[in-house]
Amino acid sequence: MKPDKLRRHLFETFSKNWQIVRPAYDFKEQSEIIDWDFRKAVICPLCMRFFNTAALSQESVLPLTLEHCPPEELGGKPKVLLCKECNSKTGHDVDVKLMEFLHVQPFNNEEINSSIENKNTVIKSKDAEVRGTTVFKRLEKNKFYFDLKAKDEYRKALYDKIQKADEFQITYKTHETPSAHLVHVALLKIAYLLAFHKFGHLFILNSNYDFVRKQILNPEQKILKSKGVSQNTSLPLGFYLISQPLFAKGILVVFELTYAGTKEKYAVILNHPSLKDIAFYGDLSNYNGRTFSLEKEDFRDIDFLTSKENIGLYYRDINRDYSFNIQRLGLDFIYKNLD
Ligand SMILES: [Zn+2]
Repeated sequence: MKPDKLRRHLFETFSKNWQIVRPAYDFKEQSEIIDWDFRKAVICPLCMRFFNTAALSQESVLPLTLEHCPPEELGGKPKVLLCKECNSKTGHDVDVKLMEFLHVQPFNNEEINSSIENKNTVIKSKDAEVRGTTVFKRLEKNKFYFDLKAKDEYRKALYDKIQKADEFQITYKTHETPSAHLVHVALLKIAYLLAFHKFGHLFILNSNYDFVRKQILNPEQKILKSKGVSQNTSLPLGFYLISQPLFAKGILVVFELTYAGTKEKYAVILNHPSLKDIAFYGDLSNYNGRTFSLEKEDFRDIDFLTSKENIGLYYRDINRDYSFNIQRLGLDFIYKNLD
């Protein structure tokens, strides 16, 4: 599907969801501020502002944009709409850090065959100099293969000349591994947006996720004590409800990242809709037990976005008393906290 068609499709789906959810909320205050009919609208899940169909035009003041979840470079599909402001801000400050981490870390850890790109590399011999992006591949611990991505024939010729010289010099900037904190914020963002894609506006219209949003929009600040991030290899992809320990009642989101030909699973814990995020992640960072009992969701094929009946299920069973008709598998999840 073409991007504009896809944006419209997501808008239709999510605005239908909003039309069903809206009567549960008293939005008088906002409706006075907004001078257009906001019944046919969607909310940006990060800044929580309303957008109508006008925002589908990419020429509008603040357009709605496709958000791949996980990021496209990590194998994700376009799943939700974000306003352009949130998209560019979190793309640059959050997603890029995760991608850098996944690519830089193996290289910095001296993994054989790991590779990295260095922009603005300078290669020079006695009588020639060329600049550009180079790819470094680690052949052995301290032995690299490198190649210049010569942009044009002129640079290619220079590069050939330099390589034939008796001696040449190469200057490049080394990459630092991005901080674990930023990487975890990126993983939290993926889990949060996947949950929005699954559960719709009811999920985000909950002040218990205010600090999760604040953390994603202010990645440099350490707002949440833990980000509930864990690397996990055994659980199938999907959503799980944590039933034990009680303080950690929450939603476990398992997703996969694809990069450099490998797939890796991550599990991120989102606080339960009835628990305040700031306290939840604080308790999580102090939890020494490290084992969680999980209930596997049996709502994989349930549409929580456009079916009124199912949205009611979410509200009644997940949002309120947590007695959703779940498959009682009693799975245990060993949490290896990456924080
Ligand atoms: Zn936004």
